[in-house]
Amino acid sequence: MNNRLAINGGPKTISKNFDWPVFSESEVYAVSEVVKSGKWGNPDCSDLVKEFENEFAAYCGTKYALTCVNGSVALRLALIASGVRPGDEVIIPPYTFIATTSIVLEANCVPVFVDIDPGTYNIDPVKIEAAITRRTKAIIPVHFAGQACDMDRIMEIAEKHNLKVIEDACHGHWAEYKGKKLGSIGDAGCFSFQSSKNLTCGEGGMVITNDEVLYDMMNSLRNVGRVKGGQWYEHHYLGCNYRMTQLQVALLSTQMKNLPEQTRKRHENGTYLNSLLSDIKGIKPLVRGVGETLHSYHIYIFRYNKAEFNNLPKAEFAKMLAAEGVPSFMGYPQPLYKQPLFQKKNFMCYAIPDYVDYTKVSCPVTEKACYEEAVWILQHGMLGPKEDMDKFAEAILKIQKAVTT
Ligand SMILES: *Cc1c(COP(=O)(O)O)cnc(C)c1O
Repeated sequence: MNNRLAINGGPKTISKNFDWPVFSESEVYAVSEVVKSGKWGNPDCSDLVKEFENEFAAYCGTKYALTCVNGSVALRLALIASGVRPGDEVIIPPYTFIATTSIVLEANCVPVFVDIDPGTYNIDPVKIEAAITRRTKAIIPVHFAGQACDMDRIMEIAEKHNLKVIEDACHGHWAEYKGKKLGSIGDAGCFSFQSSKNLTCGEGGMVITNDEVLYDMMNSLRNVGRVKGGQWYEHHYLGCNYRMTQLQVALLSTQMKNLPEQTRKRHENGTYLNSLLSDIKGIKPLVRGVGETLHSYHIYIFRYNKAEFNNLPKAEFAKMLAAEGVPSFMGYPQPLYKQPLFQKKNFMCYAIPDYVDYTKVSCPVTEKACYEEAVWILQHGMLGPKEDMDKFAEAILKIQKAVTT
């Protein structure tokens, strides 16, 4: 066996293509039918959009589902419609995509960063309680990587302090917490259909809710402030055009047929990979068992300890792993609050109070995850046979051997 690392010109441990999205002639047919119909948009010919929303709500077990242009806007609609006011504080984790916080600033609200749990990388409920002030109005828990947050505890805290809960389920399509679909537990749940996500049509978003008042308001904000039963040129709220097209829905409803099977596959592969990586010194899978009955593994994350790899920095290790053919990288290089947006308060026209200062924020668990520990394997790498997982583990062992001997 040739043990020369692929990064140094040796053979790759696994050399197959991990394609995403996965599609067939069915998608081509569905889209071409919409093209031929001439009914491309929404809402004037919104039959397909409405049908898909109903289907999605039924899958999630909620009363309502509302499509929109992307996951960021899904979060924006849910937050604004939930009735926040300028200066209100919204609790979010710093280990997430920018949109979870940018939509808070765009609502003239203050993002309050609460550190993640070192085992699960999800927002830490104990630290949520400590961050609540009289200005706190909402929590946006992110089901990071597709693993459910500790929703029982988060809902308990929210109830006690009268806070809205908007679930960022942009990694969590079809995933579950104690048998309930992610996104269906809080006041609203938000999904993204952007290219990398587990259900995609290139770009797109969805909000689900059981709350009729919230739904009606989000529907109005999505549709330039029009209201149910109102006239075409009658605008009640400060909305925008955030509507999805029928072409996108044609792709989504076809892709949706594969989602349960793909999710089951990722969940199985993830669980199996956990067992393999637990046996490697210096590698720890994230902790499971906080209620996630189905994990969508939008990302498979493991924790790297350089002490067992001859002090090889994480970024170097991640490059070697990718070179071995594992669809992986080092993930977020820094916590969200380290972005110039926050450090320099480049908030432009948004009215964020002067007392807010992000240069003093410190979330040590997130910092460790970003700088030292977290390595990501992407979701399309988790759709193959079990043997792929064996290869991923083998690649890590190959690197360990090469750098320690
Ligand atoms: C992708 C993503 C979003 C935003 O979705 P877009 O469709 O890209 O706007 C929000 N939150 C998280 C955690 C995401 O990964």
